[in-house]
Amino acid sequence: MKQFDYFVIGGGSGGVRSARIAATHGAKVGLAEKAALGGTCVNVGCVPKKLFTYAAGYGEALSEMAGYGWEVSGATFNWSTLLKNKSEEITRLNSVYKKILNTSGVTVFDGAARFIDGNILEINGEKIRAETILIATGGRPRRPHIEGAEHCLMSDDIFSITKFPQRILIQGGGYIGVEFSHIFHALGAEVTLVTRSETLLRGFDSDIIMSLYAAYTRQGLDVRLSCDLISVQKDEKGHYLVQLSDGSTLTYDLVLSAIGRMPHSDELSLERAGVTTGPDGRILVDGETWQTSAANIYAVGDVSNAHNLTPYAIAEGHILADRLFGTGPARDVRLDLVPTAVFSGPPIGTVGLSEEKARADGYEVQIFKTSFRPLRHTLSGASHQTMMKLVVCARSQRVLGCHMLGEDTPEILQGVVIAMNMGATKADFDRTIGIHPTAAEELVTLK
Ligand code: FAD
Ligand code: NDP
Repeated sequence: MKQFDYFVIGGGSGGVRSARIAATHGAKVGLAEKAALGGTCVNVGCVPKKLFTYAAGYGEALSEMAGYGWEVSGATFNWSTLLKNKSEEITRLNSVYKKILNTSGVTVFDGAARFIDGNILEINGEKIRAETILIATGGRPRRPHIEGAEHCLMSDDIFSITKFPQRILIQGGGYIGVEFSHIFHALGAEVTLVTRSETLLRGFDSDIIMSLYAAYTRQGLDVRLSCDLISVQKDEKGHYLVQLSDGSTLTYDLVLSAIGRMPHSDELSLERAGVTTGPDGRILVDGETWQTSAANIYAVGDVSNAHNLTPYAIAEGHILADRLFGTGPARDVRLDLVPTAVFSGPPIGTVGLSEEKARADGYEVQIFKTSFRPLRHTLSGASHQTMMKLVVCARSQRVLGCHMLGEDTPEILQGVVIAMNMGATKADFDRTIGIHPTAAEELVTLK
């Protein structure tokens, strides 16, 4: 039986990083991946989604060029070209991941791993023994329980549909619903976005939510709040008849359901290893030790945390490998200040407490915000607005939250997070010289 010091189940964001770092510390490391290396982020998440978002951006730019003197006629969009080029880039990234693991000395197994006991795993019928095991198996889309649910595509499927849909219905007003509504709308589809709650992006700052809703409806997206799918039927022409809870029945070429993700923990035979899960299948870990109910088994990433973001899974996997096999101090990452971006149109960058959460937590807050038409759109004719907001603690003057919607705001946000990590106050922002003419300079002149 092959023996390893450290065996990682899952070759996604958290697993690959943890395996590589453990191997560079001198551990004998194995890793099993049942699908493609790189996991959700590389294959059916962040990367292909961002490539689609760029494609959408070119479409928008075409309609905005005329005001700047560019006359473009006859431009057409070819979905097959985008799909082919995207797939080639993903294949390239898969091989980069393979190379990274090989050169670090990690032994990679192509197949699904499951527990035989707390130290023994089975992969493709082969038994493997490991002292310490990391579960980094991520998550998968949650399927809706409605009549005709089998007709709904999940986000995993949307990256390989061969025909571009002219009419698409998207269920779910979270990250994926909001991002793909923008992508398909900007690429030329008629989009209906339905969400069961009274708001998009529940839990985000209310000014972000209102700005996003205003932007989407201004652009002509059909956004239906407090509305859900009742049933989906396929007709003889291959179209989908969707019955909605607002009483309407509409016809679409494609239905995408994006109602959250569930942890990928049910195929691991966890009970044989004594690893316990919560009612939602999430593997329970002991805070930032990432230790499960079995002393030699750990879990990081989407299978165990609630953040479901690539940089967070990577940080967890890295710190854990340092602690288990390193000799010096572990990588120092602050895990309680987690920035996030939604690649909507325009995109959102947000970090820290929303105004509502800050008040609920008992802070007396001062709010500084602005909303303006970016210089670029004075000539483009587009109706885009940028919104920026700082939530500041009235007593300490520390910036508790920064929330932005507008072009480039995810790029602008990263620097703001460094400042907040250092405990920046509103006065620190105010004594910073702006960069002109940019949208970002508004952050240092907020009144
Ligand atoms: P994963 O990356 O999901 O990797 C888990 C791996 O384990 C998978 O490859 C799976 O095949 C494998 N596996 C599962 N079971 C087994 C088994 N039994 N044996 C062997 N292998 C197994 N995050 C961002 O930060 N920014 C974004 O812009 C962003 N966009 C996203 C867009 C979409 C559409 C989706 C779905 C997600 C997006 N995310 C984004 C979230 C991000 O992809 C995840 O948070 C991240 O990939 C989690 O990493 P992980 O290591 O926990 O799991
Ligand atoms: P989200 O949790 O973001 O949103 C789920 C949406 O579906 C919400 O509107 C929710 O409504 C609704 N919903 C939940 N359950 C049901 C149900 N049973 N029936 C109808 N509607 C329902 O999930 P996503 O699928 O959009 O994305 C999954 C995760 O992937 C994200 O949470 C995020 O962590 C990650 N991700 C990150 C991205 C990024 O960083 N840019 C991009 C894409 C994904 P309600 O508000 O009422 O709960």
